[in-house]
Amino acid sequence: MSSLALEADVAVIGGGPAGFAAALHAARMGASTLLVEKYDMPGGVHTCGLQGAAGPGVGGIHTELMERFAEAGCIYTVSGKTLPDWAGNPLSHYEGRLRPGSAFTRSSFNPEQAGCVMVKMLEEAGVQALYGASFVDVALNRAGNSIGEAILETASGRQALRAKIFIDASGTAEVVARAGAPFVRGGGPQPAGVQWDGMPRPVPGAMLWIMSGVELAQLVDYQKREDDPLLTALIARATAAGDLPAGLYRPRLTGTGVYGNAYIGHPTLDMSPIQAPGTFVLWQNVPYEWGLHMDDDARDAARARAALRQFIDAEARFLRKCVPGFEKAFIANVGRYVGVRDGRHPLGEYVFSLDDALRERRFPDAVTRPMTKTFFWDAYRQHTFEVPYRSFLPRHIDNLLLSGASLSFSYETIFMVMRNFPWCTQTGEIAGHAAALSLRQGVAPKRLEWKEPYF
Ligand SMILES: Cc1cc2nc3c(=O)[nH]c(=O)nc-3n(C[C@H](O)[C@H](O)[C@H](O)COP(=O)(O)OP(=O)(O)OC[C@H]3O[C@@H](n4cnc5c(N)ncnc54)[C@H](O)[C@@H]3O)c2cc1C
Repeated sequence: MSSLALEADVAVIGGGPAGFAAALHAARMGASTLLVEKYDMPGGVHTCGLQGAAGPGVGGIHTELMERFAEAGCIYTVSGKTLPDWAGNPLSHYEGRLRPGSAFTRSSFNPEQAGCVMVKMLEEAGVQALYGASFVDVALNRAGNSIGEAILETASGRQALRAKIFIDASGTAEVVARAGAPFVRGGGPQPAGVQWDGMPRPVPGAMLWIMSGVELAQLVDYQKREDDPLLTALIARATAAGDLPAGLYRPRLTGTGVYGNAYIGHPTLDMSPIQAPGTFVLWQNVPYEWGLHMDDDARDAARARAALRQFIDAEARFLRKCVPGFEKAFIANVGRYVGVRDGRHPLGEYVFSLDDALRERRFPDAVTRPMTKTFFWDAYRQHTFEVPYRSFLPRHIDNLLLSGASLSFSYETIFMVMRNFPWCTQTGEIAGHAAALSLRQGVAPKRLEWKEPYF
């Protein structure tokens, strides 16, 4: 039994970039807004998950957020001048593909401080944020086409949250799944010619962790002196000595379609500067030998977490013991959750496809003016396209809006460019706008006529 304890005009489930912007914007438009977030701060993958990549503002709340982070002094920028030998270094997550010596700048924000800024911004806007509360289910109305209540697990026990409009900002379409609206699982079609030992296809998820106290110059000196850019010799030696668990460093799987050759596999150290000199975020990719269902199978979720912790521990010990420049390094932070790069994909009123992007299709209900994005699918070509409001609407449920990584997009479209932090913030803002407009007009989001682009 759940007791009715909470009520709002707009209930946002999940406080990642999308949920944060949705709640902030709906509240600023005058709607009483409640945000449910299972961790202790907003920001999702980018704070609790330690991702932390900062970039130029793309408009709206994203730009405001970047300005607030800068004001709070939590943005850290490196460039070719401050980090020579980083461009073209194959251990670099982002700059590894650049030509050695090329100019670059990379900014990141301190995830913990950024979370504090975001908490404050929600408070200033009057959003009621329930941290440490998990959304677990929904109660539909009698007709089954509208959510009456969201069921939460909070410190007070099981509680019902009644709202006029709900926004799914869970990052993995959790509300869609619980409401029985249609979706497809992540992973896309099985790539031809790739064997998974008979197991279901892998999920490209990862846990990020931060290592401080790294002397990069010593590492680079070793790479050059020993002609060992990928640390292959050190890894081989440590593996032969039994110092590395099988499966920590794995070759990349090629021919995996939209996942490119970047997301499945972990052949060597994968790092990016963050927070301060000598501090790096490291990627620990989910073991691909298992067909993990991290977003809906408790045992898989636990197995992935335990395996990733073991990998982090083993990698940190290997680095300190065997890799020059890491002797005094230490684990400063481990992400609070395993990020699933390609979770459930709702089948909404319109499923935005790769074809829509490549053919640069135009829509009468476009939420954005034509925007140009780079797709790595086809050799980093740019495409200019629009996104329709119908991709924010799940099928069957009238009072639910989609946002962020939970939009109605085909897996290859969302995977390539449409799941990034700026875009997720923008789509959250659009969902918040749609919710507030629907309330003002007294119509369900599904009946809202979208007349002009928001961005
Ligand atoms: C490992 C990894 C690396 C990435 N690297 C980059 C990158 O370099 N650059 C980039 O731009 N993007 C990157 N992305 C993509 C980007 O981070 C995500 O697509 C984006 O964060 C999605 O935003 P979101 O708000 O939809 O969901 P999320 O960021 O996933 O946030 C969802 C929020 O909902 C909360 N939540 C989920 N379920 C519940 C529940 N049941 N009850 C309560 N709260 C719940 C979660 O705690 C979380 O805070 C990366 C993603 C991953 C996983």
